Amino acid sequence: MTTVLVTGGAGYIGSHACKTLARAGYTPVTYDNLSTGWRDAVKFGPLETGELTDRARLDDVFAKWQPVAVMHFAALSLVGEAMAKPGLYWRNNVEGSLTLLEAAAAAGCTQFVFSSTCATYGEHDNVVLDEDTPQLPLNAYGASKRAIEDMLRDFEAAHGLRHVIFRYFNVAGADPDGEVGEHHRPETHLIPVMLDAIDGKRPALTIHGTDYDTADGTCIRDYVHVCDLVDAHVAGLKWLEEGQKSRVFNLGTGRGFSVREVIDAAGHVTNAEVPCTEGPRRPGDATKLVSGSTRAGEELGWRPERSTLQQMISDAWRWHKNGHYEA
Ligand code: UDP
Repeated sequence: MTTVLVTGGAGYIGSHACKTLARAGYTPVTYDNLSTGWRDAVKFGPLETGELTDRARLDDVFAKWQPVAVMHFAALSLVGEAMAKPGLYWRNNVEGSLTLLEAAAAAGCTQFVFSSTCATYGEHDNVVLDEDTPQLPLNAYGASKRAIEDMLRDFEAAHGLRHVIFRYFNVAGADPDGEVGEHHRPETHLIPVMLDAIDGKRPALTIHGTDYDTADGTCIRDYVHVCDLVDAHVAGLKWLEEGQKSRVFNLGTGRGFSVREVIDAAGHVTNAEVPCTEGPRRPGDATKLVSGSTRAGEELGWRPERSTLQQMISDAWRWHKNGHYEA
């Protein structure tokens, strides 16, 4: 069995990746400090707990499992928190990733799949966001991810550690079988917050800004289903296994929806009113983040088949109703 080390495998995207890797015949070994992830979410392979900044622990895990590749999901990823606590983001994301890269290179690992973000692009008026768009992040979250992308290029040049970088747009939805799903504490993401408001777990959804330069005044995002997203990761792994060169891919559908459009769609899917209030802009938010790239489709053969608002919200709603983690 081919082993892949999955950092953040106990988190939202990492847990879905582990399921898809296991189905594709890999052994996903999760490395996670369980700070935002869940022991219960690790269902498809072994769990090794540890900090990304703990080099000795990482060395032990690489020696024990001898992974052929690393999929690196573990990171802090909230724009609001990054604006308030930039030091936390630089330390956790950048120092942690640097230690991981050093351990991977020392262990002779040659394949690395990295979770990056469209937040590295920042604000671009009337520009289609493709992989060559200048990266001008508006917040420490995006800046920390851009810095890790730079590190990857240096580690490839020096140590032959080839990489695939995926710049995610907005990830949503849940495993249709209900085995894993999105579970953050506290929850800040639009779709789960909205579902909490619909079933009374919070009083209302606050729309963060209604004065943006968009048709209805709210921010526009490109939503991609988590299962489609992790399929791209397996395709990225195979790309590296085939010996292909390091590459960056946007993962989005190319279609943007405003916050109000997402709220309307949720009303239809759940057949319920979404309690809403209007609030000020959230610092660090870009007006519009929509992928303008077809590279992942053309080169990896990636097709985001579940990424309709209707499918993402209904899969998230099913998880919201039936699934949860306790530990
Ligand atoms: N948003 C909102 N209210 C919320 C959460 C999010 O209006 O309670 C908006 C947010 O300002 C952004 C969009 O929904 O325009 C998506 O935000 P989310 O936090 O889900 O993802 P991000 O774009 O920050 O990665």
